[in-house]
Amino acid sequence: MKYTKSNIINFFIVLFVVTKISAQPHPGYWQQHVDYTMKIDVDIESYQYQGVQKLVYTNNSPDVISRVFYHLYFNAFQPGSEMDARSLGSPDPDSRIGKKISNLKPDEIGYIKVLSLKQNSIDLSYETVGTVLEVELANPIQPGGQATFDMVFNAQVPIQIRRSGRNNSEGVALSMSQWYPKLAEYDFEGWHADPYIEREFHGVWGDFDVKITIDEDYTIGGTGYLQNPDDIGHGYSTKNIKSQKEGKLTWHFVAPNVHDFTWAADLEYIHDITQVPNGPTLHFFYKSTMPKGKLENWKNLQPKAIELMQFFSDNIGKYPYDQYSIIQGGDGGMEYGMCTLIVGEGTFDGLFGVTAHEMAHSWFQFLLATNELKYYWMDEGFTEYFGELAESTIFNTDFSIPTRKMYNSYIFYARSGVEQPQTTHADRFFFRNSYKISSYYKGYIFLSQLGYIIGQENFNKTIKKYYKDFKFKHPVPNDILRTAEKVSGLDLEWYLTDWTQTTNTIDYAIKSVEEKDNVTTIDLERIGLMPMPLDIQVEYTDGSKQMFYIPLQMMRGEKPSDEPRTVLKDWAWAYPVYSFEINKPQKEIKVITIDPKGLMADINRINNRW
Ligand SMILES: [Zn+2]
Repeated sequence: MKYTKSNIINFFIVLFVVTKISAQPHPGYWQQHVDYTMKIDVDIESYQYQGVQKLVYTNNSPDVISRVFYHLYFNAFQPGSEMDARSLGSPDPDSRIGKKISNLKPDEIGYIKVLSLKQNSIDLSYETVGTVLEVELANPIQPGGQATFDMVFNAQVPIQIRRSGRNNSEGVALSMSQWYPKLAEYDFEGWHADPYIEREFHGVWGDFDVKITIDEDYTIGGTGYLQNPDDIGHGYSTKNIKSQKEGKLTWHFVAPNVHDFTWAADLEYIHDITQVPNGPTLHFFYKSTMPKGKLENWKNLQPKAIELMQFFSDNIGKYPYDQYSIIQGGDGGMEYGMCTLIVGEGTFDGLFGVTAHEMAHSWFQFLLATNELKYYWMDEGFTEYFGELAESTIFNTDFSIPTRKMYNSYIFYARSGVEQPQTTHADRFFFRNSYKISSYYKGYIFLSQLGYIIGQENFNKTIKKYYKDFKFKHPVPNDILRTAEKVSGLDLEWYLTDWTQTTNTIDYAIKSVEEKDNVTTIDLERIGLMPMPLDIQVEYTDGSKQMFYIPLQMMRGEKPSDEPRTVLKDWAWAYPVYSFEINKPQKEIKVITIDPKGLMADINRINNRW
C-alpha cells in the first residue's frame, strides 16, 4: 500500500485515539485533552494578526472545573512585565534580555488581547493578569465532560528578545512560538497557570488544526503537516501558485497529538526536504541571504540530521511523527512540537550541536512532556545527556570529555555554598547560573550516575521503558525512578530524594590502609551525607588489577556486572566507616581508587585515591 500524507494522518489519529483510551502508565493516571482550531490573518506591515480560536476541552480529571486559565505569553514583552522586572532585578541577568524589554516602544512590544470568549455560546467573564488570562466558567465542567471555548483575539509580534518575535539579529521575519492563547495545564498537581518569566513549557496534549493567512511571498515552516501543498508551493509542492486572496495565501496545518504549535516565516527561506530511512521527512528552512559558507553548513547538516534522528529513535524509542523541521529562528535554540527554531549563522559544529540538543528534546520534554518549570532537569538534563551521547557517537569522539565537564561544573557549584535543590521552581533560583547547573548539568549527571548505580544495560532498558510507558504523557521524577527500579529490581528512592530534593553531597574517602600478618585492611569513610554503592579498583605492583563492589544496603541488591569483581558485604549508610581486607601484604598494593571511572559525583576526588 502506498501511504499518502492524509492516510498517514488518519493512521495517527486512529493510533492516538486507541493510545488515549488504553495506555495508562500507572493506575489512576489521567490527563486533560484539547482540540484547537485556529484561523490567523497576519498583517505583515504592522506585525499584528487577528485570531479566531475554537478550543474543545475535555475534562478527564476526577474534579469539577469551574475556572480555566490561558497563557498570553507575548504580554511578557512589555515594559514593566514580570519578565522585565526579573531581568532588571536579577544578580546575573540574561544578557539577551538585559534592559531590552524596558526599552520597547508601543509598536515593538508583544501583546495578545482577548476580544471575546464564549463557553458553549455563552459569554464569559475574564481578566488579563500579566501573561495569564483568568476565566470564570459559566457552567462548571464535570469529570468526563467537555466544553467548547470560542475566542477572538488580536496580537502583536514583539521585536525578538527571547525565542519568539520578529526581525531578529539574523533577519528572520517571524519566529512564532508562544504566539497564541494557550490553555494552561491542569493535572494531578492542580493548575499550572505560571506567569511567563523565563520558562514556559507545560501544555495540554491534543490535536491542532491551524490556518495561517499571510502574504504569498513568505515561506512557513513549523509544527504540523501541511494539508494544502498544491495551493501553497514554497517547496511543499512544485506547482506554480497564485495567491488565493489579495496577495495572500492560507496555509492549512494539522498536528495530531502535540502540546504546542510553533511556526516561523520568512521571505528568504530555502526549503529543503530529506527522508530518514524508515523515519520522518526532515524539512530545513534557512535564509538564502547567508554567506556561502553558512549555506554549506546547512547542506552538510542534512545527512547528519538523519543520523541524529536514527540515533535517538534507536536508543530512546521510535520518533512517532512523520515530519520534523529544523528552522532558522535566529535566537539560540528552542524545542517545539515536530520542529526546532535555532540560530543559523554559527560554525558547523555549533549548528550541529544545537540541532543535536534540540532534536533530543523531541523525546525529553516534547514526547515525555515533563513540566519544564518544575522538572526542568528531566527536560534539559536528559536532553543534554542524549545530545552529547549522539554527537560523540556520530563523530566517534570521547563521551567522557563532555561528561567530565558536567561533573566539574556541578562539583564547583556544590562546593560553592549557593546550591539550591532541584525542587526549586525554575523561575526562582537566586542566580540564573544556578538554574543552568541544576537543570542541564545536574540533570545530565542524574542519568550518568544512574548508569553507575544500576549498571549500563539496566540503564539502557530503563530509558526505553520510560519512553514506551510515558510518551504522550506528563511524567514526573518518580516515574523515571520507578521505571529504573522495575527494570533493575533495586531500591532507588534514596537516589531521587538526596540528588533531586536536597543539596546533600557525595564524598567518600580512603581513610587508612594498614597491614597485619600479610593481610591489608582498608578503611573507607563516608564524609558526605548522600549514600552511594562503591566500585573500588585495586592495582597491584605486579600490574594486575582487581575490582571490588560494596553494595549500598538500602538498595537491597547489587548492580549486575559483566566484568569480574569481588562483591563485598553491604555498607549500611548510618555507619561512617567501613573496612575490608585484601589477603596480600601492603607492599604488593600500588594504588586503590574509589570509582575509577569517575561516574559518581564525589565532590572531593582527592581522597578517593590512595
Ligand atoms: Zn534544551
